[in-house]
Amino acid sequence: MTDCLELKDVTVRYGARFALDAVSFGVPQGAQAAVVGPNGAGKSTLFKAMVGLLPMVSGQVLLHGQLRADYKEPVAYVPQREEVDWRFPVTVFDVVAMGRYGRGKWLKRLTSADRRTVRESLDRMDVADLAHRPIGELSGGQQQRVFLARALAQEPHVLLLDEPFTGVDVSTREATLELLSGLRANGVTVLVSTHDLDLAASRFDVVVLLNRRLIHAGPPREVFTEEHLHEAFGGQMVVVDGRMIVVDQCCCGGDAEGGGSAGDGAGRDGR
Ligand code: ADP
Ligand code: MG
Repeated sequence: MTDCLELKDVTVRYGARFALDAVSFGVPQGAQAAVVGPNGAGKSTLFKAMVGLLPMVSGQVLLHGQLRADYKEPVAYVPQREEVDWRFPVTVFDVVAMGRYGRGKWLKRLTSADRRTVRESLDRMDVADLAHRPIGELSGGQQQRVFLARALAQEPHVLLLDEPFTGVDVSTREATLELLSGLRANGVTVLVSTHDLDLAASRFDVVVLLNRRLIHAGPPREVFTEEHLHEAFGGQMVVVDGRMIVVDQCCCGGDAEGGGSAGDGAGRDGR
């Protein structure tokens, strides 16, 4: 069966520097995938390349076997918070209404059905009471909910969320997790980047472990081995499945076999 989302040898450069080097993986229809890797691993770059905001040096992004440019179903993308200019003078309602454009409706009026979808999306993310506020006045968590409402208003087949759990309050985190559960029930294919390896291990079907190149993609158990974590996070401490693993820097980077054990702290309880 073809994957819903398939990347083939995706390579992206900033100038001479490779941000992504021949990254390939697939996500089945309706599955939820977590993209994890250290800072600078290329997670945001990957999302931007997938939606065509960044050119690829080579490679392909396929949706149900079709090139992204030819795929007609809606794909929603919520960028990382830091990448949005929150000073843009626009109300919450307008931000979410933008989710209804791009379906051949650009510059056309919203229909009453569009407006209903916008209101339902605002309701679903519990921000309906903020509809007439400028987006720039809201808290980080509220802004994130508004962007999620915009994504919902697109009625997407594929949803890409770049670090939705970073810098938000607990209730927004819970609302986002609830949203993901609802999307699972509706068969929406989801790709979420996160620093929370515990969450990736416990709530996602597929994990894509990245550090400029693909370290491994597959079910969490297969991905979160000490060897893979060491390859991705050498020199850092990570927490997976409630266990703290210290990835020893001295073993990092070589191809040498042996001595690559990842951790003096494996098995200690994390918090
Ligand atoms: P992540 O989201 O995993 O933290 P990014 O995709 O943001 O990583 O960045 C990957 C690498 O590309 C980093 O080394 C970053 O500094 C670099 N980078 C990101 N955006 C740009 C840019 N616009 N110009 C040059 N380098 C960039
Ligand atoms: Mg990022």
